[in-house]
Amino acid sequence: MSQKTKTAEILCVGTELLMGNTVNTNATAIARGLAEAGLNLYHQTVVGDNPQRLREAVELALSRADMVITTGGLGPTYDDLTKETIAGTLGRKLLPHEESQRWVEEYFRRVGRTPCPNNQKQAMMPEGAVVFQNHNGTAPGCAVTGTGRWEGKTAILLPGPPRECEPMFREQVLPYLRRDSGTRLVSRCLYFYGIGESDLAHRLDRLMRESKNPTVAPYCKPGEVMLRLTARVEEGEDPGPILDPVVEEIRREAGEWLYGVNVGNLQTALVHTLLAKGLTVATAESCTGGLVAQRITSVPGASSVFQWGVVTYSCETKRKLLGVSQKTLDSYGAVSPQTAMAMARRARVKSGADIGISVTGNAGPEPSEGKPVGLVYVGLDSENVTLAEELHIQTMEDGGREYIREMAASRALYLALKAAKQRVK
Ligand code: AMP
Ligand code: MG
Repeated sequence: MSQKTKTAEILCVGTELLMGNTVNTNATAIARGLAEAGLNLYHQTVVGDNPQRLREAVELALSRADMVITTGGLGPTYDDLTKETIAGTLGRKLLPHEESQRWVEEYFRRVGRTPCPNNQKQAMMPEGAVVFQNHNGTAPGCAVTGTGRWEGKTAILLPGPPRECEPMFREQVLPYLRRDSGTRLVSRCLYFYGIGESDLAHRLDRLMRESKNPTVAPYCKPGEVMLRLTARVEEGEDPGPILDPVVEEIRREAGEWLYGVNVGNLQTALVHTLLAKGLTVATAESCTGGLVAQRITSVPGASSVFQWGVVTYSCETKRKLLGVSQKTLDSYGAVSPQTAMAMARRARVKSGADIGISVTGNAGPEPSEGKPVGLVYVGLDSENVTLAEELHIQTMEDGGREYIREMAASRALYLALKAAKQRVK
């Protein structure tokens, strides 16, 4: 690579953060973005609304990093001092910025409020700054380079409210950083289901430790792991030769759990697979209360693959709406593989869909019909296949019920995805 990887620091400004009144979500969002962008990040700092300590923190950050990214303190009130303090530290005057003045006025017109004189303060910008427009509030952000002792160092100032800070960072700052580096970052996201983060990390230990281009970073959520591969390439360079061999190596080591590349989540993978194959799916749910249907229909384009789903919470509705036989319910109970299979089959037959999926189980908090909390059956009915899987979903936290429902819905989506991948229409 032609250029050395830059190092950034995050500095969040606000007494409310120091006191624990506000959770520092900006730092998390920015840190994630920097990791994706392939920048080095070695320090994060929080400092109160105090100009002396803010100045010290900025100087410390810029003494060890190429840039400091700050959030907070760009508002119109007396304790919003970030811009003044940093401009002073970097030897930059604050000048009225016409474009920002127009944006602030335009913002107030749009929301039907009148600006107060303090808002003029927000349209003052450090000399020579690159200004980032605020689409969700009044305080513009900016990138300003230092003079004198701070020559070659950059401070990037972002507003405090997360709904202003996060989009500004993603939409304007990340592209600014990329343009500055002369290189481009290309990511590929690999989605895994049914393998824990530690197991996956163990299998890919060497790769995750040693690979610098692409970088390989794991993210996990219950039941799922995503690996983000990020390659740094020169403008116009094809990222394929950097990314493809690593994707292949990961496939060799953990391909059995990999359910998609750049797919986003299970439901999107399912809808896209069904669309590609011209297949449809129907759902019959009990303990998930419609979560499976909700997740499928959250995907744009779902209407072509999903027309039909029911929530049959009681035995009576399993019988009346779906046509599960009284005998099955009496002999095996509502939470049983037989009922799960019957629900999936009846959903498929009644709807005319290609694949039927079902969920029946006990999400807690109490055992019922002698079935323990977390015992769930997921049913699948597809051409020549009817099956039920037994899940024992373990929870320790209070939110156990929701966790069980989410995990059960994920399993149902996964089974449907697997069936859809195997089927040829
Ligand atoms: P400020 O721009 O400093 O006036 O911040 C405005 C509001 O944004 C604060 O009152 C907080 O609610 C929120 N905020 C500021 N900094 C952060 C942060 N680092 N993470 C999340 N919220 C923040
Ligand atoms: Mg503040």
